[in-house]
Amino acid sequence: MKPPEEQTMSSVFPRDTRINLPKAIRAEGCYIYDETGKAYFDGSGGAAVSCLGHGDPDIISAIEKQAKTLAFAHTGFFTSEHSEKLARLLADYTPGELNRIYFVSGGSEAIEAALKLARQYHVENGQPERRHLISRKQSYHGNTLGALGAGGNEMRRAQFQPLLIDVHHIAPCYEYILRDEIETSHDYGQRAAQELEDEILRLGPETVMAFIAEPVVGATLGAVTAVGGYFQRIRDICDTYGVILILDEVMCGMGRTGYLFACEADQVVPDIVCIAKGLGAGYQPIGAMICSEFIYDAIKTGSGIFQHGHTYLGHPVATAASYAVVNKIINQNMVHCCNRLGVFLSDALHDSFGQHPYIGDIRGRGLFLGLEIVSDRATKKPFDPELQVARKLKMAAFEAGLICYPMAGTRGGLLGDHILLAPPFIMQDSQISEITYKLEKALKSVLPA
Ligand code: PLP
Repeated sequence: MKPPEEQTMSSVFPRDTRINLPKAIRAEGCYIYDETGKAYFDGSGGAAVSCLGHGDPDIISAIEKQAKTLAFAHTGFFTSEHSEKLARLLADYTPGELNRIYFVSGGSEAIEAALKLARQYHVENGQPERRHLISRKQSYHGNTLGALGAGGNEMRRAQFQPLLIDVHHIAPCYEYILRDEIETSHDYGQRAAQELEDEILRLGPETVMAFIAEPVVGATLGAVTAVGGYFQRIRDICDTYGVILILDEVMCGMGRTGYLFACEADQVVPDIVCIAKGLGAGYQPIGAMICSEFIYDAIKTGSGIFQHGHTYLGHPVATAASYAVVNKIINQNMVHCCNRLGVFLSDALHDSFGQHPYIGDIRGRGLFLGLEIVSDRATKKPFDPELQVARKLKMAAFEAGLICYPMAGTRGGLLGDHILLAPPFIMQDSQISEITYKLEKALKSVLPA
């Protein structure tokens, strides 16, 4: 037994050892309360997780019921009721032939499964030389080694570089910074997509396994949508060269953008799509890798076994919670709500910050919105990273009672700052002004007068 003074010290290994966090003790609707009773408006749903807000009685009752009936049954021995029901429900709403659903415990696991499945598909299909993965700079696909390797955020990758798989990164579709003044949006999108074809040709088309991208780039770019036509051209290129298209909708999926699947807005159907976050809405840890029938068939008619797996695949309590979440999103028309509220929130952000000297761009889709912070709107020059604008904004907003998701490294991973907003779909119209008011307060306290 440790001495009493050590027993009272925290034994938790936190994300950041330099700060003391308040203790969250309860949550209800759009608010999380700490032990002093202070309320925080959950303006980012953590990190685009809590789409139904907190304390939803239907989800809680689904969890209770399932935990009492069957808390766990290993998927090597059994299937279970809610895995089946949830897979059926999702398959009914996925675009195209995305019909086979592999349940995991979060976003990174979904990405790992997608990467391995893309590789195994080619092996089973008699093309074992296909091994190269192409991804985009300034993307984020998770923190496990495969997912981190796929991601293109320099700061997150740097120290782990020697452990990462070799991935080839092309530029993102980031109109605010990368479109030439004389180019139309469409032409810019075609030029950005052309980078994929050029990279495939450089590597040798017969060696390329997959391309992975977020339809709306979340954490690392701040809700950046692609311009019209970009993803359609990406789809064409993948089809031409037999490259598997993986879309990472871990953050932007499940209604967040005003579409159940974010790729619907881009009018493309990937071969594999990954979802998580909003799938469990924070009530249970769950993610899913969803693949097209032709990929599943290749495994089924080949070895019959996907060489992958984790202990908690298709966890009964997680799938029961998620079934209740997805049912609610669909049956209560939450996707429409998200769209409607997204327009109001975007308008309010434009009204409040459209002329703000340090907000260069306001962007996003549905309730997935981003503000890019610049030191000069005309030149779009970012603030000096030494000033730690994103970190200070996070703290100032928190102090003001707003949880938002500021992040540094918008420009290439080292420079730039943005704020991501992803409030719950159950938010009331009247709460929009609470977000803009608290955000304004935070901006005022951090940025130069
Ligand atoms: N992919 C995207 C686009 C994400 O935003 C995230 C997490 O933020 C992940 C993957 C990883 O998900 P998780 O943190 O659940 O492992």
